[in-house]
Amino acid sequence: MAKLSVRNLEVTGKRVLMRVDYNVPMEEKAGAMVINDVTRIRETLQTIRLLQSKGARLILAAHLGRPDGKREPSMSLQPVADKLAELLGSPVKFVDETVGEKAEAAANALANGEVLLLENVRFQAEEEANDPVFSARLARLADVYVNDAFGAAHRAHASTCGVARILRAWGGQAAAGLLMERELKFLGDELETPARPFVVILGGAKVSDKIKVIDRLLEKADTVLIGGAMAYTFKLAHGGKTGKSLVEKDHTGTALAAEAKAAKRGVQFLLPTDTVVADLKDTGKLNKKGKPVFEPINPRVVEGDIPDGTEGFDIGPATAATYAKVIAGAKTVLWNGPMGMFEDARFAAGTQAVAQALVAATQTSGAKSIIGGGDSVKAINKAGLGDKVTFASTGGGASLEFLEGIPLPGVSALNDV
Ligand code: AMP
Repeated sequence: MAKLSVRNLEVTGKRVLMRVDYNVPMEEKAGAMVINDVTRIRETLQTIRLLQSKGARLILAAHLGRPDGKREPSMSLQPVADKLAELLGSPVKFVDETVGEKAEAAANALANGEVLLLENVRFQAEEEANDPVFSARLARLADVYVNDAFGAAHRAHASTCGVARILRAWGGQAAAGLLMERELKFLGDELETPARPFVVILGGAKVSDKIKVIDRLLEKADTVLIGGAMAYTFKLAHGGKTGKSLVEKDHTGTALAAEAKAAKRGVQFLLPTDTVVADLKDTGKLNKKGKPVFEPINPRVVEGDIPDGTEGFDIGPATAATYAKVIAGAKTVLWNGPMGMFEDARFAAGTQAVAQALVAATQTSGAKSIIGGGDSVKAINKAGLGDKVTFASTGGGASLEFLEGIPLPGVSALNDV
């Protein structure tokens, strides 16, 4: 169902409460909290500028970290207000409350086009409880609601869901911001009726994390390419050897059921034919859980089975070449999950090859390439290719749930059109 867009709102002189994702990485330097990556702030600028140009009085709400319902100075949004002002090139007011008299006074004092950032919504325990009284206090700050925080839309919290429903009950509107709109378009509409061939690449650690996505996409895809540690559960299910690799023994049935569904629907379902494996050296150290830490050494490529005592960490070059060829012929590509433990450069080649193939298909044959959030977005950015694909989702858990077909509370709460 299409959602009301911020582009179609009449907001001149109105107070607009906009939920944004300012959960930025921060670190303490010389006694002050410093923002390490401003991407999430920069991404909100277009919707903010649009609302400013429409003469809205803009009130921004966001969470930062996990303060567990208590005021935690290191998680204050004050530094974000300063950074936003710098990026926006216009002043941003800040109020050290989220709701209540002081916040209401600050919201009411805004002139058309002015911007106010509220203090971290999670300083209030009622936020994550989606408390109706707290939601109503938030709703008192505004006439209209906009949600541009796709990454938080899978949470039914007061600022993502409760407040929208209350404002609507009071006669106001609740719309999607420009960022949110793009997420719904690319992860939703574009995949409903994809240009064909539609190739889905799935990787990451666990079959159990991705099975609902696999199951849903098998209804749409022409080809599914599997990589990452989850491929080893498929290998195990076929009676192959997986050495010391990450596997989910309890999910071999799940893996076989996915393959059976693919076969029934005529979906090509490819698994890796070769693997980058490594021996494991005991470092003598223990991890936080008290388990011994092993260092992968002597990485090498094997075909077929993964030898006893070794662990698989990446798809091999033959698999990468096959996958790249399939991607080259695609008109729509969706990618979720890395092909290996890409954080270690020795095991990043498979993920990089897929990233490059995706970019080539986008640039040379006009394929739509959609990166479904989380670690694959990190991987494509690490390869410096983030801006060369059609769309990279800003959501992690939210993207996965959306791709599974689960209605997101933060999206459901918005007006339909
Ligand atoms: P996910 O969040 O399920 O997409 O999984 C991403 C994580 O899976 C990344 O941190 C990767 O390092 C990890 N991963 C992918 N392939 C492997 C592998 N073969 N062995 C261990 N970890 C892997």
